[in-house]
Amino acid sequence: MPFSDFHGNADVVRTLREMLAREHFPHAVIISGPQGSGKFTLAQMLAKAMNCLERPVSDGLPDFCGRCANCVRIAEADALEERFAEAVEARENLRDADKRETRILVQTHPDVLIIPPDPPQMLVKVDQVRHVIHEIYYKPAEGRERVYIFSDAEFMKEAANSLLKVLEEPPEFATLFLLTDNPSALLPTIRSRCMILRLAPLPAAEVEQYLARVRPEWKPRERALVARVCGGGLGRARSFDLAAYLAARQDALTLLGPAMGTEDHSALFRVTDTYRSGAEGRTKTEHLIRTLYSLLEDLLFLKSGTPEFVRNHDIQPELTRIAAEADFPWIVSATQRLGEVESGMRRNLLRTLALDSFATSLER
Ligand SMILES: [Zn+2]
Repeated sequence: MPFSDFHGNADVVRTLREMLAREHFPHAVIISGPQGSGKFTLAQMLAKAMNCLERPVSDGLPDFCGRCANCVRIAEADALEERFAEAVEARENLRDADKRETRILVQTHPDVLIIPPDPPQMLVKVDQVRHVIHEIYYKPAEGRERVYIFSDAEFMKEAANSLLKVLEEPPEFATLFLLTDNPSALLPTIRSRCMILRLAPLPAAEVEQYLARVRPEWKPRERALVARVCGGGLGRARSFDLAAYLAARQDALTLLGPAMGTEDHSALFRVTDTYRSGAEGRTKTEHLIRTLYSLLEDLLFLKSGTPEFVRNHDIQPELTRIAAEADFPWIVSATQRLGEVESGMRRNLLRTLALDSFATSLER
């Protein structure tokens, strides 16, 4: 049955289904967990179980059929990234005046609304929450429960305050899910009105076993690398773009070159020159920054004598050489400078120049 397709965190899934069975499901639930741990998959499964027309039972608990009209329509949003990209594109094609007033929402079933963070700031905005407030008090149209999924619950201040009003008096027939990798970033007043459930990352060995089934084309050492880099997030591991990661990592190592005493900077400039403006360059730069963070973190693990935590263990000899050159203050300041590059990207600074100045600032 479909809930059995959810990997890991069996106790959390059971708790949620037991609450469904008792019809005492809380009105607001925070599901926290690292990227790729299945927060959205689980919220979608619950939305289906709440609205399934067949209402099957497995292991004595409510499940969903995956075939009825409600399940099928809710499932159209399972591929959230695609639905999100469509919504963003539709907005791009509007007239300027309409564009400003249109907020990104994903809805494939009249009773289930997904509220993703709104670009470019990638935060939930007050107009999105107002949309929820306008419709949440109407009875469900075709299902039994209205479901609102904040797929990445990071709110602008005004939006968070508006949400509080809904959480104070939610209607009987509505459930809100707030998905986050960092529940402490939510207002304490929001947290106190929600039930908080945590999806733990899966052990690397378990992720590797799973990858052996779904990504048989990867070599065992590649599966081991992906499992570690994804930090136990199954969903992230499954759809991991290994080639892009390895390319970003090669670039990241080149960026660390000047710090390691490489005097010829031409290799560095060749690399940074490929980080251009526009959407494609943005994604590429985000990958690079994330990869740099993970390398710096690995250096910290090596410096603090805990090599077993190193994620990029396939290049451990190279990392060990870098770690021998680096000291703690250097790693800390590199991490801070990387944070500055990251916030500069949000302000649309020139990527190539920002990366050059990051790399040369690491020289000692
Ligand atoms: Zn169904």
